[in-house]
Amino acid sequence: MASTEFQHDTATHCPYCAFQCGMRLSGPRDAAVVAGDADFPVNKGALCIKGWTAAEALAHPERLLTPLVRDAGGQLVPATWDTALDRVAEGFRKTRTDFGADAVGIFGGGSLTNEKAYLLGKFARVALGTANIDYNGRFCMSSAAAAGIRALGIDRGLPFPLEDIAQAEVILLAGSNVAETMPPIMQYFEAQRANGGVLVVSDPRRTKTAAAADLHLRLTPGTDAALANGLLHLLIRDDLIDHDYIRERTEGFARVRQVAATYWPERVERITGVPEAELLQAARLLGRASAAMILTGRGAEQQAQGVSNVLSFINLALALGKVSRPYSGYGCLTGQGNGQGGREHGQKADQLPGYRLIADPAARQHIAAVWDFPEDELPGPGKSAYELLDSLGPQGGIRALLVLGSNVAVSAPHGNNIRERLESLDFLVVADFFLSETAQLAEVVLPAAQWAEEEGTMTNLEGRVIRRRRAFDPPAGVLTDLELLERLAARLGREQWFTYASPEAVFDELRAASAGGAADYSGITYEKIEANQGVFWPCPSMDHPGTPRLFAYSFPTPSGKARFHPVLHRPAAEEPDEECPLYLTTGRNLAQYQSGTQTRRIAELDAMAPEPLAEINTVTAERYGLVDGDWLTLQTRRGAARVRARLTDDIRPDTVFAPFHWPNEQSANLLTNPALDPISRMPEFKVCAVRIVKE
Ligand code: SF4
Repeated sequence: MASTEFQHDTATHCPYCAFQCGMRLSGPRDAAVVAGDADFPVNKGALCIKGWTAAEALAHPERLLTPLVRDAGGQLVPATWDTALDRVAEGFRKTRTDFGADAVGIFGGGSLTNEKAYLLGKFARVALGTANIDYNGRFCMSSAAAAGIRALGIDRGLPFPLEDIAQAEVILLAGSNVAETMPPIMQYFEAQRANGGVLVVSDPRRTKTAAAADLHLRLTPGTDAALANGLLHLLIRDDLIDHDYIRERTEGFARVRQVAATYWPERVERITGVPEAELLQAARLLGRASAAMILTGRGAEQQAQGVSNVLSFINLALALGKVSRPYSGYGCLTGQGNGQGGREHGQKADQLPGYRLIADPAARQHIAAVWDFPEDELPGPGKSAYELLDSLGPQGGIRALLVLGSNVAVSAPHGNNIRERLESLDFLVVADFFLSETAQLAEVVLPAAQWAEEEGTMTNLEGRVIRRRRAFDPPAGVLTDLELLERLAARLGREQWFTYASPEAVFDELRAASAGGAADYSGITYEKIEANQGVFWPCPSMDHPGTPRLFAYSFPTPSGKARFHPVLHRPAAEEPDEECPLYLTTGRNLAQYQSGTQTRRIAELDAMAPEPLAEINTVTAERYGLVDGDWLTLQTRRGAARVRARLTDDIRPDTVFAPFHWPNEQSANLLTNPALDPISRMPEFKVCAVRIVKE
């Protein structure tokens, strides 16, 4: 790979998580130097080890630099772009002719820039005419998104800037291990505690984050709603709720009060395993604080009752009268790099840009006008992420698939099923910068540009729209995803809708498409982002400064009030039994990211976390005759994964934790349960029943 390019000090952002740390890149591509950007007000110069090492993927020897097509012998062999794109266009055309437009599916990702997510959604509807597009963000944020819309009228991860965390008197952090997954955020929690604040963490594990808390509620996996209802019960009982706020700014409390009455402390202790005394302590801390904040993460959200869980925490924040108050309220800590923006601009099955619903006639009219495309040719809602993947192949009806920015063979639940479904496709196309486990199954693999080689915007967990800047041109033979979609659309006869002078031109069209929608970007420009270190949406006009804090005067609901939702705790879709006597919960660790396509290839990260370590309580391990470092098999009703034991007292004796960053026989997603939340269609990654088989 050419290494002669040299760029001086490009200010951009880390490619990984939703914290989107500001960083500066300098030097040649094959020896690029990363520095934290002290001027960026979010991370203030701090990075985690993933950020420090991110540039190593740019010139990695395994990087894809040419398209690959499968030859007659079944091997992936290098090809020209013309050959590869002709084959893709022909494959999609034939599938549409033989089986209809919806037989072509698209699977996107929560790490794509806003421009790419937008264009991918348009490509599905306009170039392919398929309803079936969804993305891996469905596996990440969808429960919090659905709950936020239902209760507060809008889905923006944090409705306040991160700096508010430092000023909160009490924070309840439910199911998030940010000390490992986004360490630079800890500066805000540390500042909060230095200011005299108190941190309460609920998690089945004593994670690094829980260890840093003043109070750790070590709940049974899958019992978040019972915990929240139990806390609300105590707040009502001890009259620590805000009656004026409830009357003036909310609706629906009466039914929630009735439900909460049935979650008395003894019952909640029985369900959650959290001692009554700790429940009372947490309730009093929250109820007596003038500024209280409740934050949720994937632990509470990635469940088949994820929406209910989040609604129960929002109930709590509303009853406390804290949503919209200074340094208070409810927020969700988004996970993927563009987990926020990626869900706003049309790569979800039910959505059009600007957070519009594709089934809404007014939304369709608006987008059809912006695109200058016949409204009646826009497809309707398609299948959600897991349902889309489960429909691959002749039996489900989706016969061809384009995957962009996702490694579903590792990251989707019930991995054995997903692999079978991928293998049963007539035609699979994957765009990636490494030969991921999904790309290895493809008919055509298209080499993609990386983060530091493209222009665009991302939206961080605060709703702050920021610039991703190009430090290097893509290597010879590599296209950006925008260029790829444009060329493919031209081959499908849709060139007139996919001709853009630059990524900024795509963003300008996105702005127009989002105008008047819930996620209104119309007043945001690249220049404005540059001048302000990002702009918070909604920003509905050029003279609008953006909206760091939502809900000051009203909620974007028909009545202007926030809505309580009565929530009943339900058992997990699969509870431990004789066959599988333990809970399994999955998650991330510090040195790896998502399916590990990038991070497993970075030497320093691989050295830190070369294999999956399953956390098992020492008492449980003794029962199975395990010692630290033993290899073992975790077995569920869906599959088996080989992992190494890490014995610890920091996890409940009835629970095993496995990280999900590894492929093949080490993949935790061979084990996970695809039971879906009825509203968000989120799979139950965080709870299932497992047994340990000693080797
Ligand atoms: Fe920052 Fe997240 Fe990147 Fe770590 S992975 S450097 S926390 S953006």
